[in-house]
Amino acid sequence: MSGPVKTTCPYCGVGCGVSVEVSTANSPAESRVIAVSGDVAHPANAGKLCVKGTNLAGTLGHATRLKTPQVNGADVTWSEAIRRVANGFRTTIDEFGPDSVAFYLSGQLLTEDYYVANKLMKGFIGSANVDTNSRLCMASAVAAHKRAFGEDVVPCDYQDLNECELLVMVGSNAAWAHPVLFQSVLERRQAGTLKVVVIDPRATTTAQEADLHLAIRPGADLALFNGLLSHLHQVGATDLDFIQTHTSGFAGALEEIGADDDNVADVASACGLTEAELQTFFELFVQTKKVVTLYSQGVNQSVRGADQCNAIINCHLATGRLGKSGMGPFSITGQPNAMGGREVGGLANMLAAHMDYSPENIATVAEFWGSDSVSSEPGLKAVDLFDAVADGRIKAIWIMGTNPVVSMPNADYVKAALERCDTVIVSDCIAQTDTTATADILLPATGWGEKEGTVTNSERCISRQRALIEPLGEARHDWWIMAQVAQAMGYQEGFAYNSPRDIFVEHAALSAFKNTGNRLFNIGALSKISHSQYDKLEPIQWPVTAASPSGTKRLFMDGQFPTATGKAQFISSAAELPRQSLSEKFPLALNSGRIRDQWHTMTRTGRAPRLLDHIEQPFVAIHPDTARAYQLTEHDLAKVTTAQGDIELCIVIDTGLKPNQLFIPIHWNNQFAKSARVDSLVAPIIDAISGQPEFKFTPATIARINVPCWAVLVSRTKLSCESFINWSLSPLENNQGYLYQVAVAEHFNWQDFIALKRLIEQGPAQAYEHYADESVSDQRFICYSDQQIEMAIFTHADKKQLPGRAWLQRLFVEQIDGNYWSLIASSAEPDQGKLICSCFKVSEKTITDAIEGGACSAQELGQQLQCGTNCGSCLPELNNLITQTLSLA
Ligand code: SF4
Repeated sequence: MSGPVKTTCPYCGVGCGVSVEVSTANSPAESRVIAVSGDVAHPANAGKLCVKGTNLAGTLGHATRLKTPQVNGADVTWSEAIRRVANGFRTTIDEFGPDSVAFYLSGQLLTEDYYVANKLMKGFIGSANVDTNSRLCMASAVAAHKRAFGEDVVPCDYQDLNECELLVMVGSNAAWAHPVLFQSVLERRQAGTLKVVVIDPRATTTAQEADLHLAIRPGADLALFNGLLSHLHQVGATDLDFIQTHTSGFAGALEEIGADDDNVADVASACGLTEAELQTFFELFVQTKKVVTLYSQGVNQSVRGADQCNAIINCHLATGRLGKSGMGPFSITGQPNAMGGREVGGLANMLAAHMDYSPENIATVAEFWGSDSVSSEPGLKAVDLFDAVADGRIKAIWIMGTNPVVSMPNADYVKAALERCDTVIVSDCIAQTDTTATADILLPATGWGEKEGTVTNSERCISRQRALIEPLGEARHDWWIMAQVAQAMGYQEGFAYNSPRDIFVEHAALSAFKNTGNRLFNIGALSKISHSQYDKLEPIQWPVTAASPSGTKRLFMDGQFPTATGKAQFISSAAELPRQSLSEKFPLALNSGRIRDQWHTMTRTGRAPRLLDHIEQPFVAIHPDTARAYQLTEHDLAKVTTAQGDIELCIVIDTGLKPNQLFIPIHWNNQFAKSARVDSLVAPIIDAISGQPEFKFTPATIARINVPCWAVLVSRTKLSCESFINWSLSPLENNQGYLYQVAVAEHFNWQDFIALKRLIEQGPAQAYEHYADESVSDQRFICYSDQQIEMAIFTHADKKQLPGRAWLQRLFVEQIDGNYWSLIASSAEPDQGKLICSCFKVSEKTITDAIEGGACSAQELGQQLQCGTNCGSCLPELNNLITQTLSLA
């Protein structure tokens, strides 16, 4: 065994360092991951990992991988695939021009992949139709940074979170979306060194840990931060020296927002808050010097996202609270390399290396790349780009490492657009996704554990992602695939890369090229590193220049900003609520977001059974009063309808929502459920400045679907689900099979279903045992071959009477003595509730029993049950269960 290998987690923007033990006992080709742990030396996490990072090894392996290039469903060689892609692009461009083609990229790509994509499209094909799924999560923050600071620069780093005295979290459920970062926050708050204010319409797990939760009306963030700026001005809490010396536009900003009156009551009313709540927040902000405002998708994903981000920045500029220890506006990224993509120019409105589309920048980049074909103007942003696919302006699109058929707003329209498009190329490491289903050409890309390159996390820290194992099948690195296509299109010189290091040093050199200090993104000091230095590169925060060869922790310390005047700019606008409004037909506000143990569209996390133990089914959360009004109860199946369409999910009652709100997770897709893609319900309404869609507010309605009978099935093989009213699936431990939760019609004929399955599979001969109590639709079947149970089915009119996941998994994992009849005739172990601690498999029921038995703190629960003592992702839920259980006692 050699190791450990230091790499980074491929999920959220915290960008944790990961230490991996790899076995190369036989040969490098047979290397495999033995153990994953946090890298204690990495500055982002100091050894901690959340449950997603801890379970990275479970996402590796052959199952579900795309292993060979395919054209129209047939396997082809790499040379044939490259030829087909290059010819497809070349003939389309020759006939219809460069803007008839597009790339759609991903914050999952490494910086080196991103650089080659951007250079090929913007530098040589001559179109700027390169956009990325970062448009869906970060574009508003990017636009705000550029308007306020002159460049897309995050002023804070994680150290500021350790030094601030007040943390204002806006539109961020960091307890689930950025868990490692939130654990540090929690520790400081529990130690009494930090106050936390959470501004979010939902009482999320994060909000439940706050000193003050402002359950703001959806889309009212601009009203709230404009109100705060007015208040700061009115009570004399502004830093007039800083404003005078280092900023422009303060007087205009005050005028724009009507700051003459300090009417807290009006602001509170606009935000759906009480005056007392708002006054408490304002006073905390005024009285605490060291304030960090951390914001995320809840702010960005709005029709006024950019303005909302600027309204937050305004409050820090007005108080001079940035560029100093423990203070500043801190936009935290959703994806592991959203920042790296922004650095190379992966957004359609940026050119390269933080340069926008000015004539000087175009000339600079053209000179550096040695190309006279550099695109002359910004390209189409994500929503407009897929509109152009739909109406035929874009005839060939190459999608890399992302799943827009699930993640784009109006997702069904995007799906139809891709199905109509002349040429759809998809590079991915996973074979079957909702997007690969639309591809003409499929290119197997390497995935986490196989890739080599760099990523940049939320605090501008560049870290190496390193290969652990050999690529599976014929998978190739994204940069290599694009360089081959570029060369086949005739651009040999610009794309003769042999390694990711070759690309990185070119990227670093471009960042410094003709950079006289006007661009803060400058990693020129890394432009001459050798292969061995690249291999050993330690995490480093940009800028990295001759003056700061070890990187730069804090920016703007001198109050100088990369604008024409050197001053930061106040950008303000009057408040406005979401573009759409609730109506009689759609009276509920639909919100969406992440859950604790899943990532994006589940293509990777959905492969790790442990990550489905916490929440295994798609759901819609609803307030108990609203549920009553719509005659819904927990576990019911419901149809959620918006102007865009409808989907079907099970009900979860959640007192954390306001009565007119719904919440649906973003993750589920057609590979894991019949009908749960929430973004098919979201209208493609975008922020006019950033192009970011408004995901957080969609008028909706809900209705119960009658389900005569529920069933759970475990099967060694995937099942045909057409005959079910509804279904969702999750994989079982050790690749033993799948668990299906299904809804079926009255008198569903299970014998026919079993017979059909046998016919389709033509597998080993199977017999089955059957038990029935027809009075409650209680039927149980166990189908078995000589060796083992092949499928088990349990049905009941009451979903709560069905056996739980843990018991069902054991049917496939443990040796059963063959007395199948007694097994199904006896009662299954009742469901223990959801698994709260995935690391030690501790369920909700076990935890509440322990609390009732006297364990009244997370520490005591940890001592008794071990829960919360490993990755700590479940600590906020443990605290919440303690509060809930004790309040009922
Ligand atoms: Fe990965 Fe979790 Fe760290 Fe995010 S917090 S980078 S998901 S280990």
